[in-house]
This record gives sequence, C-alpha cells and structure tokens, in this order.
Amino acid sequence: MRQAGLCVWEAHQLVGKMVAPGITTAQINSVVDAHFRECGAEPLFKGYPHQKNNRPPFPAATCTSVNDEVVHGIPGSRPLKEGDIVSVDTGCRLGGWCGDAAVTYAVGRIRPEVRQLLDATLASLDLAFQLMNEKSKWSQIAREMAQFIHDHGFSTVECFVGHGIGRQMHEEPQVPNFMSRGLRGSGDFRIEPGLVIAVEPMVNMGSKRVKMLPDYWTQATLDGKPSAHFEHTIAVTRDGPVLLTMAPTTDEAARRGAAVAAGAGK
Ligand code: MG
Repeated sequence: MRQAGLCVWEAHQLVGKMVAPGITTAQINSVVDAHFRECGAEPLFKGYPHQKNNRPPFPAATCTSVNDEVVHGIPGSRPLKEGDIVSVDTGCRLGGWCGDAAVTYAVGRIRPEVRQLLDATLASLDLAFQLMNEKSKWSQIAREMAQFIHDHGFSTVECFVGHGIGRQMHEEPQVPNFMSRGLRGSGDFRIEPGLVIAVEPMVNMGSKRVKMLPDYWTQATLDGKPSAHFEHTIAVTRDGPVLLTMAPTTDEAARRGAAVAAGAGK
C-alpha cells in the first residue's frame, strides 16, 4: 500500500506545481492520469459506478471541486481564476493495493478567511493523525475533529465520510469526521495495527448542507460558500500511524533503513 500511496503523493506534487490562474481542471486531470499510467497504476475514480444504476460512471481519474463545490466535481474546460480554491481528490491501485488522497489548492492569492478554512481543514486531519497514536477508538478521534472545526467557526460536512481501504478503494469501516449515529453504536472501531483508513475531512465555511449539481456527480454547498477537503491514507502499525500517501520523513526513512539493515544482518 506504500507504493500505491507514494504514486498518489507524487500525483499531488505534480498538481501542486501546476495549479495557477488559467489552468483548467481537465489539464490537472490529464497530468494525474498520465502519471498513474507511468507508474503502471490503475486510476480508481475513472469508471467508478454511480450510486444510481441509470447514471453514467465517473468519467475521470480525479475529482476536481472548485470553490463552493465540496467533492466529486468533474474535470472540465473551466479555467481556474486568481483567488479560487480547487480540491483535487485522486486514487490509484498499484500491485493490487489502493491509495487515496485529496488536497485543496489555492489558486494564486486567496482571501484570508478562505486560507483559514484550508488551514483548519488540514489541521483537523493532522489532529486525527496525532490522536491515532493515543486513542483506542475512532469515535474519540471523530468527536475531537468535529469540535476542532466547530471551534474555528466552520462546519463539518456530514453526508460524506472516509473509509477503510485495501485491495478496494472503499472498504469497511466507514470513517466519519464527526460523532455519527453509527459511531455511537456498532459502527465504532478500534485503532489497532493492521487498520488502514482514508481519513478525509470535508469542511464548509458556512452551513454543512450540501446539494447535488445537475451533472449528478458534483456536490456543492447549499449556501454557495467555499468548502475544503484534505485526505490521507493512513496505516496503523505496531509503531503507530503512518501516512501512506506522503513520502516518508527522514526519521521514518532512517528507522526503516535501520530495520532493513538489522534484518539483513540476521
Ligand atoms: Mg477517499
């Protein structure tokens, strides 16, 4: 899963370099699609079936959701403008295993309150990652994520959640970013080695309410205010949580190197 995660992380590095006023979301999608092909990876979003059988599957390798669009935006010929934000969500399968990550990018200079929205959303994902070291159940983490977002004056989207991930992109359990009814009951789960989940807070500047656009895919805020989305695939190991969709830090690489050397000496 680390290999798939790194391929997704590299895709985001490419996107981060190209996002600028004048770039279209279709151009972003082409770069990611080509990158997956170069990695020998299968894009997971392209052809993803619609919940309703009679609607067409998702047509692209990325979801690109601009400004008030929350998730599941379809890439197109719309050029990004200075001050926009674009959430790019993408995933691939490599060697039979999946990775999935999302980042909301600023297009040029953005308003300070929009920057705060992005910062708070990313910080709530960081918080979840830190808490995966300390807490024994997901409900304890979800509650703190939602409280953090509330304390910053924003609202957590509740109609979409994160997910378990492995050979398939979407596996059990559901991973809400708030204290859901499921988490109060049988939907809660333990944070223990072997668990791999995609944690993906979606945060609105205004109300949490979301509507579907006429393309039957794009979800946008009901009040037209901006929305942010960050996601990482996170594995729980005996040494704690690991971000699979980010290049290893020097510390982790050193630790792995030492472990490999120790193994080679046996
Ligand atoms: Mg996901």
